[in-house]
Formats: sequence, C-alpha cells, structure tokens
Amino acid sequence: MEVERAGSSEQRAGSSEQRAGASAPCSPLAAPRSLDVAGIEQQAGPPASCSPLAAPCSLDVAGIEQRAGPPAPCSPLAARRSLDVAILGAGPAGSTLAALLAQLGLSVALIDRDAFPRDKLCGEFLSYDAMPVVEMLGLDLSAAPAIARCRVVGRHRTYEFEFPRPARGVSRLFLDDALHRRAVAAGARPITAQANSVARDRVDDIRARVVVGAWGRWGRFDQQLGRAFVRDRAHRHFGFKRHYSERRAAGGEQVIELYSFGAGYLGVSPIEGGLTNICGLVHASRLSGLKGRWDAFVDTIRAEEPRLEELYARHEPAQDGFLSSEPVIFRGRSPVVCGIFMIGDASGIVDPLTGNGMAMAMQSALVAAPYVVRALDAPDEAAREYTARHAKFFAPRIAWSRRVAFLLSRPGLLDAAMRLRSRAAGPFFLRHTRAEPDDVRILADAWTASRPNSTTS
Ligand SMILES: Cc1cc2nc3c(=O)[nH]c(=O)nc-3n(C[C@H](O)[C@H](O)[C@H](O)COP(=O)(O)OP(=O)(O)OC[C@H]3O[C@@H](n4cnc5c(N)ncnc54)[C@H](O)[C@@H]3O)c2cc1C
Repeated sequence: MEVERAGSSEQRAGSSEQRAGASAPCSPLAAPRSLDVAGIEQQAGPPASCSPLAAPCSLDVAGIEQRAGPPAPCSPLAARRSLDVAILGAGPAGSTLAALLAQLGLSVALIDRDAFPRDKLCGEFLSYDAMPVVEMLGLDLSAAPAIARCRVVGRHRTYEFEFPRPARGVSRLFLDDALHRRAVAAGARPITAQANSVARDRVDDIRARVVVGAWGRWGRFDQQLGRAFVRDRAHRHFGFKRHYSERRAAGGEQVIELYSFGAGYLGVSPIEGGLTNICGLVHASRLSGLKGRWDAFVDTIRAEEPRLEELYARHEPAQDGFLSSEPVIFRGRSPVVCGIFMIGDASGIVDPLTGNGMAMAMQSALVAAPYVVRALDAPDEAAREYTARHAKFFAPRIAWSRRVAFLLSRPGLLDAAMRLRSRAAGPFFLRHTRAEPDDVRILADAWTASRPNSTTS
C-alpha cells in the first residue's frame, strides 16, 4: 500500500496544482507497508486462494456482475488475524458506514488515500433526505446555509419549487472531514494510504472478514474487477467545480439554481462562509481539444448562453482554478462484486443534477450496515439480500435522475417543458429522485435500536 501526500487526489486544473485541502500529516497507521492495523501481526500476503484472480467475475445477461464460482476459501489462520471490516474509501459512504459499524464494536479499518479535510469535486448541495443520517450521527451542520428552494433557469423561463424540508449547502472540505472524524471517534481505524488491490478478504495487505468498496464513481479496482461500465464511452461525462464569492448583498433567501447548456448543466449552490459553488457536468463529446482547460470551456458556454454570462460575471473566483475528476459514467452497477460489498457511488450513480449523490451515499451505508454485519457469518446470503435491498431502495431514483438530466442538458427542450408551468413538476421530480426522509429515519431508528448500547458513542 503506497502512502500518498495529503490533500485532494482530484485534479485542480488551471492552477499550480495547489489543493484546497489542509495537509494534515498521515496517520501513523499509514506509514508501515505491512500494516499492523488490529494490533496484531499481519500475514505478509493473502493465501493464493483469496486473490481476486482466484475468484474471477463474470457478467450475466442483464449486465449484473456476478462471481463465477463459490467464494474462494481463506485459511482459518488468516481469518483469525483479520479485522472485521475493511472499508476502502472515506467519502460520505465509507465514513458513514465506518461510524455505524465501529459504534457496534466491530474492528473497522477506514482507508483513504487522502488526509482530511480535503476538497472534492461536487455541487455540495446536501439533500434534505440525508438529514436523518446527519442527525443520527450527531453532525452539526448549522454553519452551512439552509436551502429551501430550487430554481431551474431556462433560456426564456424560470421554474421554482420548494423543498418539503430544508437542504444544506455544505462544502466537502467540511462535510467529509466531519464524517471522517465521526467514524474515528466511534472507533474506526483511519489509514491514509493509496490502495492498489482489493479482494473479498483484503485490501492490499490489510485482511478483513468483510471488505467494503466505497471508492466512489471510478477507480482502478473497477478495472481490476472487470466491471462493465468502465468500457462504456457513450455515457462518459466530466465534472468541474470552483468556489466563488458573489457580488451581492449578504443574506436573502437561499436557493439552489440549475442552468442548462448544450450536453450539460450547472448547479449553483450557496455553501458555508458566504461562498457559492458553481459546479457543472458535461458530456465528454464537448471537451475534445480542450485538454482539461476548464477556463476555456467555461468561456465557451458563457458565449453560448447569455444567462451563464450573467451568472459568471457576478461571481469572483475564490479558489485557484477548477477542480475536476475522473469520468462520471451513467451505467448500471452491482452492489456486490466478487464478494465485495459496494456502497455509495461504487454501487450506483445517481445523476448529479438531483443533488442526491451524497445523501444516497450516506443512505447506502445505512442500508448496507446490517448486511455487512450478517456477512461476517453468512457472506453469500448477505450478498444476495443486500443486492435485492439495494435495487429496491436505489434503482428507481437512479433511472429517474437520468431521465430528468436528459431534459436539463437540452436547453430548447427544457424551455418547451417549462412552458407547461406545471406546479406538480417540482414535487414529482423530488418524489422520484430521492428517498422519503421518513423512510430513512425508520432505517436509522431500526439500526440504532439494534445496537447493544443504543446511545450515540
Ligand atoms: C459534477 C458533480 C456534481 C455533484 N454534485 C452533487 C451535489 O450537489 N450533491 C450531492 O449530494 N452529490 C453530488 N454529486 C455526487 C457526489 O459527489 C457523490 O455521489 C458522492 O461523493 C459519493 O460519495 P462516495 O462516498 O460514494 O464516494 P466519494 O465521495 O467519491 O469518496 C470515495 C473516496 O475513496 C477514496 N479512494 C478512491 N480510490 C482509492 C484508492 N485506490 N485508495 C485509497 N482511497 C481511495 C477517495 O480518495 C475518496 O475519498 C456530484 C457529482 C459530480 C460528478
């Protein structure tokens, strides 16, 4: 396992690669190559039968990733020396799950190449249906603006609707750090290191009875595991974001705005500290020849769309350059691959336009937690049940978010749709692209009640 430098691993273009994240030192646990994570000596390598090559994956006709054969057996000695759970990725999904499992008293490694706090590509709009998880974990987001409305800005029309409950505009610097701290406070062991290989019972040389993939929308492991979506070039998009200060009077109502442009769209969200996040997503076909020069791309859309010219003209950059990232690919994914339990974006991507990815990531941790516990003793049953539960809870909103994004990335069509002025459109959009907060609260309450000591640690 290679230990990487602190800060964001995403790319900030148009700047001297200066990351916005603080460069906190790596955890002492990160330093040794052969990790002694559970306070016990680790075996140098996994038994050959546990390697991912020993349990190759295949795709079934529906594109669902499946393990080809029965789970590769691991030696009892190796199992005795394992942690309970190794979670690869400490974004909202990984840190939430680590907190939940560590509260239960399980030994949990939480592995991320980045040290926290760190910046990340995101619209930084935290949907209201994440709030039951936020409350359950005892996070204080009061510094982040409460957002009560959404405004869709078309070429000739705007359409506004209210959220049933306030959402929050919160930077990833703040939120991911708060979640990571929560997990560590609950007893998860943080490991700051770049992981290079993963299998159902280990992450590099860290052995665990259950391995959870929380590495986000795209990673080397998706290629290693032969996941079909990595070969998909037709649905490949890229995101870009930057923080700005706005030339306007302080205060006023807090709104998230969505703007469309050809083959893409922008979200404009207030975040803590009086800043505004302008974050976009664009189909790869619009970027040829730009070589990652997001400033040139933004100039292009400003020239195309007068509304975007007005928007950018009233904002002053508050960060060096743009933050961009690995591709965003909208294709079905499986929540369990080669015995590895996937959560968050690694288990399925909801279109960013919905502003529901972080909520979904945190909810997926809550959905997965009981199955991960069950997988300690009955991995195959737990994998089957989790796959079914995940599809029921998340598949409809993933599908709906793509339909709505189709509309939003076609300005002419969007204007035509907004001419209808249907008051039901906003509530319909919300209902189909996110969870009912009460359903999430029920899950949270059930998890809390299932803990032997049901006070928050
Ligand atoms: C353009 C755009 C705008 C968006 N806007 C919003 C929004 O406004 N609201 C919203 O809710 N969602 C938004 N999203 C979606 C949101 O960013 C994701 O859904 C969310 O980050 C998923 O969380 P996660 O924990 O699954 O993964 P991530 O947040 O991606 O975390 C994955 C972690 O894994 C770590 N990792 C990866 N590989 C390795 C490795 N090899 N070794 C060690 N660590 C590794 C990474 O460092 C990272 O910390 C947006 C996405 C895009 C692309």
